[in-house]
Amino acid sequence: MPSYRPGKGAAQAEAEHGIVNAIKLASNETPWPPVEAVVEAVRDAASGVNRYADHRATKLRSELAGWLGVDAEMVTAGPGSAGLLQQLCLTFVDAGDEVAFPWRSFEVYPVYTQLMEGQAVRVPLAGWSVDLDALAAAVGPRTKLVFIATPNNPTGTAVTTDQLGRFLDKIPKDVIVAVDEAYREFNDPSHGNPVADLVPDHPNVVVLRTFSKAHGLAGLRVGYGVAQAPLISDIDKTMAPFAVNALAQAGAVAAIGADEEIRTRVAMLTSERVRLVGDLRADGHELPDPHGNFVWLPLGDRTNSVYLGLERRGVVTRPFSGEGIRVTVGSADENDRFRATLAEVLEEPAGS
Ligand SMILES: *Cc1c(COP(=O)(O)O)cnc(C)c1O
Repeated sequence: MPSYRPGKGAAQAEAEHGIVNAIKLASNETPWPPVEAVVEAVRDAASGVNRYADHRATKLRSELAGWLGVDAEMVTAGPGSAGLLQQLCLTFVDAGDEVAFPWRSFEVYPVYTQLMEGQAVRVPLAGWSVDLDALAAAVGPRTKLVFIATPNNPTGTAVTTDQLGRFLDKIPKDVIVAVDEAYREFNDPSHGNPVADLVPDHPNVVVLRTFSKAHGLAGLRVGYGVAQAPLISDIDKTMAPFAVNALAQAGAVAAIGADEEIRTRVAMLTSERVRLVGDLRADGHELPDPHGNFVWLPLGDRTNSVYLGLERRGVVTRPFSGEGIRVTVGSADENDRFRATLAEVLEEPAGS
């Protein structure tokens, strides 16, 4: 079994390299603490943690349904959307079944597939983009599940709901297609809304989203899924008891209430992303247009040395050996520091 490798924390990098003031741009978190309403809700909920939480997270589901404009039976919540990805594998994949997904993509897809003794079918990206034609061609009689991250992690490219609709027309209705929108809030609205554009006509589609990225609740562990009611009820059967803890339920409900404030933060990060991409391109870097809160720097053979050079100088990014580094868009200061440090690292003679 491969293990899931989390991004390295700033404190760990400081300890390993004997440095101070490291910054973490490795896990696509938001750079700021959660909004005050969330902190207050979590603090209030803390006094009730002698009791189990509501197993079905009823209040959160109903708030989500109202927010998204769907029936409450069309929504589930999980311990992060990664928890729901695991439930999808538990629900639909038996030993020998195939799970198809573009590659490179989110690292838990092959891990959860293998956990079920499923067969991962990795469909290479075209350039840095998801190749939906090749993915459709890879779906066969043993395929139970397809994962599509849009924007894709780590390359940041996105597909539109029109493209996904044409893809779905080629896929048998008994193959479950999970559209993983962990970075939806940073994506260009012109790419469409899978909940409105795909779920009503496709009983086999589930859209996964999370409070971890745009909403700043990564440490609480809460995500959600939207699909037609029968699919949601199947997924719910594999839910661990009390999967979404009491603090996470309260925090997520408060985050929905603070939507406007959170959107302002998202807008700040997307404008920082535009600035960072412009600066990196001005420095001579070629990179795909990013649609999440991170950029992909295809560094090829230089990946490991650049990653290490950055980390020794206190800038922690996420390396994919031989391919490139993924760098979270942080605060303006963090982004400036990353860009300056990258330039410094690239000026070093190779091998030093
Ligand atoms: C971060 C991420 C997730 C999961 O995040 P959770 O914290 O488990 O909600 C899911 N998919 C992709 C592509 C991600 O990058």
